[in-house]
Amino acid sequence: METIDPELRQQLISLFGADNCLFEIEDLVAYSYDSARDEHRPAAVVFAQNAPQIAALMQLANRKRFAVVPRGAGSGLSGGSVPLAGGVVLVTTAMRRILEVSTDDLYAVVEPGVITADLINTVARHKLLYPPDPSSMKTSTLAGNIAENAGGLRGLKYGVTKDYVMALEVVTPTGEIIKTGAKTVKSVSGYDLTKLFVGSEGTLGVITQATLRLIPAPAFRRSLIAVFDDIALAGRTVADVIKSGVIPATMEIMDHITLQAVENFKHIGLPQDADAVLLLETDGIEAAAVQEAATIERICRGNRTIDVKIAASESERDQVWEARRSALAALARIKPTVILEDATVPRSKIPDMIAAVQDIAQRHRLVIGTFGHAGDGNLHPTIITDERNTAEMQRVEAAVAEIFDAALRLGGTLSGEHGIGLAKKMFLHKEFGLEGVETMRRIKKALDPNNVLNPGKLFD
Ligand SMILES: Cc1cc2nc3c(=O)[nH]c(=O)nc-3n(C[C@H](O)[C@H](O)[C@H](O)COP(=O)(O)OP(=O)(O)OC[C@H]3O[C@@H](n4cnc5c(N)ncnc54)[C@H](O)[C@@H]3O)c2cc1C
Repeated sequence: METIDPELRQQLISLFGADNCLFEIEDLVAYSYDSARDEHRPAAVVFAQNAPQIAALMQLANRKRFAVVPRGAGSGLSGGSVPLAGGVVLVTTAMRRILEVSTDDLYAVVEPGVITADLINTVARHKLLYPPDPSSMKTSTLAGNIAENAGGLRGLKYGVTKDYVMALEVVTPTGEIIKTGAKTVKSVSGYDLTKLFVGSEGTLGVITQATLRLIPAPAFRRSLIAVFDDIALAGRTVADVIKSGVIPATMEIMDHITLQAVENFKHIGLPQDADAVLLLETDGIEAAAVQEAATIERICRGNRTIDVKIAASESERDQVWEARRSALAALARIKPTVILEDATVPRSKIPDMIAAVQDIAQRHRLVIGTFGHAGDGNLHPTIITDERNTAEMQRVEAAVAEIFDAALRLGGTLSGEHGIGLAKKMFLHKEFGLEGVETMRRIKKALDPNNVLNPGKLFD
């Protein structure tokens, strides 16, 4: 849909109010992309205030056959909120109330547009933890996290978003408001629709409310930084730590290119001549966290770490994690285009995956910085390039395909946390086969017979 039909324009204004609708080209451009590379312009953008409005919009979309694309903060890295078929971008950031924090039953009820860090900070005041902490947490919304099943630095010990979603309120593609799950610790009533919507990338329903599990905040934490002059040794250390029986809260890796970029950006004294660093954190009861940190230190030394240092203060710790969270932004400063992948392998295969990425970079003469949630097997090989250089872009495309092939060959998956969206849909059959993709397509068709909700994502 390139220009908006005047009747639809009027219907959107009556539904959402003129102040909550955008139709001007300069506004539409701002909602035509997310944090990945694709770009398509919508015909209109609307800001929802409540679920009944969204239900009415979906009913209208089915009657008039236009696409509706849910959108949170637009920080997605796979094109999930890009309006591929035009239509209406439905932004849920105005629904941003934390409705309840239950310190008795350990859950929070939130609207979809709550910023992830706002929930984390709010529950921390009650000595509670909402563990999923994507690096984008200061901008991303909880609905965006749920739709992408976002992970974060704490994923190794605490799991990812799907492990914390207890119940949802969802507007279906045909415009009904439904509830899934329960506020109870246990519930096996009916099909587990909550799990179906989590990670569905805005293609099966619009999330309008979520009940999220909370846990008691750990009383103590200890952060370590281990420096290596060979990234292969850092990779081996990751595998050895897991094998030792210690599950740190966090185990992140940054390679030489990323380290340099981060240090030039943040200036916190990271060792720029190192080939790689591991950033680790143990937490829990003080004695256990200290003992686990000592075990990790021993394993690092056994793998010839040049240096292993324990953060001396909370502020030193915060500085290191803030630096890690800025890795993508730091790499993006080097060249105009960054292509970030999130192929993920079983943890024991981290050394093989690192070697495969290095080999791919060398053969295609590309600069690839690698960082990521090493403890989850989730690396982010990041290609630093310039999309105006067409010859290099052809090599980039080939390298991306080879990175996915390497991950699948090692028993891994195309995406650990960023989703398939537009960016990886051409590869999905490689992981699940044509029959697997067809099964997903049938689920989509059952819920969205007119294909109006976020069409063209995950598969064509
Ligand atoms: C610098 C940076 C660092 C990042 N770090 C991480 C990381 O560590 N871990 C990680 O997992 N991701 C990370 N991401 C990716 C991104 O932040 C996450 O995917 C996040 O969950 C997206 O949230 P959002 O609110 O921006 O959603 P958007 O980008 O707006 O949308 C993402 C998807 O959610 C759908 N959606 C949005 N709102 C709704 C709704 N109400 N109902 C149904 N569907 C909806 C959209 O249709 C789309 O498919 C990072 C991104 C950046 C730019």
